[in-house]
Amino acid sequence: MTNQDLLKIAGDYGSPVYVYDAEKIASQYKRLTTAFKKVKQLKLHYAVKANSNISVLGYLRSLGAALDTVSIQEVQLGLEAGYAPADIIYTPNGVSMEEIEAVAALGVQINIDNLSILEQFGTKHPNIPVCIRINPHVMAGGNTNISVGHIDSKFGISIHQMPLLLRIVENTGMHINGIHMHTGSDILDIDVFLYASEILFDAAKNFKTLEFIDFGSGFKVPYKEGDIQTNIEELGKKLSKRFNDFCLEYGRDLTLAFEPGKFLVSEAGKFLVKVNGIKQTTSTVFAQVDSGFNHLIRPMFYGVTHYIENISNPKGKERFYSVVGYICETDTFANNRRISEISEGDLLAFQNAGAYCFTMASNYNSRFRPAEVLWLNGEAHLIRKRETLEDLLRNQILLSVD
Ligand SMILES: *Cc1c(COP(=O)(O)O)cnc(C)c1O
Repeated sequence: MTNQDLLKIAGDYGSPVYVYDAEKIASQYKRLTTAFKKVKQLKLHYAVKANSNISVLGYLRSLGAALDTVSIQEVQLGLEAGYAPADIIYTPNGVSMEEIEAVAALGVQINIDNLSILEQFGTKHPNIPVCIRINPHVMAGGNTNISVGHIDSKFGISIHQMPLLLRIVENTGMHINGIHMHTGSDILDIDVFLYASEILFDAAKNFKTLEFIDFGSGFKVPYKEGDIQTNIEELGKKLSKRFNDFCLEYGRDLTLAFEPGKFLVSEAGKFLVKVNGIKQTTSTVFAQVDSGFNHLIRPMFYGVTHYIENISNPKGKERFYSVVGYICETDTFANNRRISEISEGDLLAFQNAGAYCFTMASNYNSRFRPAEVLWLNGEAHLIRKRETLEDLLRNQILLSVD
């Protein structure tokens, strides 16, 4: 996908627009399967919440992926995209028993992270196999909002509650077929990950009927050249060996599962915006773009730095800009960033826009959510239309008050 391709896409579909490069998704998928090729049964559950466009889901299915979901609606999108219920795992937190039962009725793998729910579910449905989400209490993750393994976290069943967990399983006669952890996003140190894995192996020994161990996700991706990232190849080497040894010890071949979201789609995505204005103040040169945190909230929400390139003038002299949106609230995408010289009308491309960007978009300021395009086999395919006024008005009811 060249800059020329991107400029043409913005010309054809307008801006702002999200563009996803299928080839990059495929190469990331391949990287993971290659890193774990020594494991007999590997299952990659793509985390739908990263990017839930059904064409992206469908493309990942064609690569062999399964799905990780956190809501019944994500499950339904997965089914719509052609996934078999058996290839979907559902890992909710804080949802109602009714929703869990409805998902279980679809034949989807349930993953429970709460002892009270486990007891209720096991009592009512002892024959439905359940995976349990363990919180190993290992600190991982790049930001407190996305770091979910610590002691104060709402996620998972504490490893220290194993005795009570086992009692519930015994009392209800329920069938535990999987054990899971997900310690947070942006894991920098694979030794921390391996340490948490040991806790999971230890926990796994308590269950005789396991079919899989799910190590969640949290792989860090680079945001710019030379950026730190999870060393997948080394993790693959070390964890595969440890996993295979564990299977020998356990007495059966288990499936090793992961739930990568960001790793598979982050770098594949670009977000294209147009510069509406250049505004020089006493201290700053602002580049004002036709978007805001209604379309891409991560810089403001998580403090994430999205690298920004001026694809209309990629070779220009670099100058300092603060890139801001058009929302009536502070919505700074980039502060004092070196970008090749920007003129009004130029197109800027945000990198790493494939994960947690469109899925977090809103209609704040009553703006339309952008179009989405999948770049596949050298061609652009529109996979979501830009919204229209009709979309904003849908479901609204105008009360007649006069
Ligand atoms: C968010 C989430 C993931 C994906 O995390 P990434 O950092 O995007 O890979 C996987 N599993 C669960 C349970 C999650 O909540």
